[in-house]
Amino acid sequence: MTTDPFVQAARNFVDSQRVQAMEELLQYESDMVDDRCAGVLRQLLHPDQKPLTPNQQYIYDALIEPRLAEKCSNCTTFVPAGVDNCQNCDIRYG
Ligand SMILES: [Zn+2]
Repeated sequence: MTTDPFVQAARNFVDSQRVQAMEELLQYESDMVDDRCAGVLRQLLHPDQKPLTPNQQYIYDALIEPRLAEKCSNCTTFVPAGVDNCQNCDIRYG
């Protein structure tokens, strides 16, 4: 059980949002993602869907999952990493 609102938001993402956020971390925030994290991200994004080892799961829980969600730039709604606006603000501000 976590009380981190970013982790809770990430857990509420649908699969496509989680994939989008993981691709964002891997491609555009590589300066924030070390080799171990990148390896875990690549495995999670790989079509084989091999299960993570306990060590990889630890890295995911500690270092990756808390970064998957970000705040919308206009309101307090959580969005996947790399997405600027939530759906509501997208409609309002284009
Ligand atoms: Zn918003």
